[in-house]
Amino acid sequence: MKVAKFGGSSLSNASQIKKVAAIVKEDRDIKTIVVSAPGKRFDDDVKVTDLLIALYTNKVANMDTSKIIDEIMDRYRSIAEELSLETKIVESFEAILNDRLNNIEEQAYLLDALKSSGEDFNAQLISTYLNTLGLSSKYVSPKEAGIIVSNTPANARLLQSSYDEIKKLKDYEEDVLVIPGFFGYSEDDDIITFARGGSDITGAIIARGLSADIYENYTDESYIFAAHPGIIDNPYKIKEITYKEMRELAYAGFGIFHDEALEPLYQEKIPVMIRNTNDPTVEGTKIVAERALDPKVPVIGFSCDEGFISINLHKYLLNKEVGFTKRILQILEDYNISYEHMPSGIDDISIIIRSNQFEGNDNLERVIEDIDTQLEPEWIEVEDNLSLLFIVGLGMARQVGTVQRVTTALADSNINIRMMNQGSTEYSMMFAIQSQDHVPAIKALFNQFF
Ligand code: ASP
Repeated sequence: MKVAKFGGSSLSNASQIKKVAAIVKEDRDIKTIVVSAPGKRFDDDVKVTDLLIALYTNKVANMDTSKIIDEIMDRYRSIAEELSLETKIVESFEAILNDRLNNIEEQAYLLDALKSSGEDFNAQLISTYLNTLGLSSKYVSPKEAGIIVSNTPANARLLQSSYDEIKKLKDYEEDVLVIPGFFGYSEDDDIITFARGGSDITGAIIARGLSADIYENYTDESYIFAAHPGIIDNPYKIKEITYKEMRELAYAGFGIFHDEALEPLYQEKIPVMIRNTNDPTVEGTKIVAERALDPKVPVIGFSCDEGFISINLHKYLLNKEVGFTKRILQILEDYNISYEHMPSGIDDISIIIRSNQFEGNDNLERVIEDIDTQLEPEWIEVEDNLSLLFIVGLGMARQVGTVQRVTTALADSNINIRMMNQGSTEYSMMFAIQSQDHVPAIKALFNQFF
């Protein structure tokens, strides 16, 4: 039994939805599908989720909302018309949006309720369409499915007790259930979304809850590549990758699969197949618990993500001060800031943080001030425009010379390594570099290892 998740590019218009329906009709092992909101139909197009965010922005700025609502409704109306569905369903969508706009007062909840509508409406349309094709299909809302999440808008976490409810979806008799991705409900009954790109997370949760044999993730790519295809022409196609390796690469921006989606699958060892809606016969990349290692290919891939800052501080005899790091972390916690890495020397520590946590607030200045007054470092500085470069591969463990190959490749391209980190498992190395070196670094490493 399979659970399949279809991303926004697979559902951007009626002709894409027809491809999805054909896949589902053909493969009757697919019992449950999780769907995204309509994505981009062409390069300059706008995703429905982004239109919904724009709707929220206009609403809170007291600006006109009717044009954006019309634009959103046009997307769904054209899908409904081309699939020969009755368009009165689209009118009900408009009523739902207006109801949310008029009745949800708290901004964070309003934003999540609006954002979730993209997948919610799409799931309803797709289920209706599948029924017209002779499959019995049922739209199941995340609430009915039992997806209960933390009360943390835009960053939902599943409550583990949900799995008992999700399991009950097995009792449905329809050929295929259609569940909207990207959101769940809090215990107080508010709609709470996962992080952006979070339909993958719903898909993984449902696959785990139903103990699926396979989880298929449909996008417009068949493979995960060893490096970003926008940087390297024809990069190496990964046929098999472990959850651990994928987690490392997804963390640093391998957009094809959300890093938070791996956890539920990893727990139950459910294999993930990366599939292409436009080319469904290709057996794409498989994400599995274990794979055979080729000693000649220690590295499986490289990724690099921009948008980090580092708070660097120095204090003589810092190593002898009990609780120094704990106090820094307490300050971060006071401002609800998570950190990514903390490379250190005997007298210095750097705290690497995603810079988007400081957008639209003055928390960075406040954190620096608090560290300065409470810990009295000799100096403290903020370094911005950092990128984190990851070199990943289970084959690197216990192999001599991999760091040398990495540093030689970077040095030959005149790239300065600002900081580095390697965990004891040795299957991932992290290097902090200046963001301007991102593309040359990936090129240099690709040439070195492939
Ligand atoms: N529609 C949501 C987004 O654009 C979630 C998803 O597509 O996975 O972030």
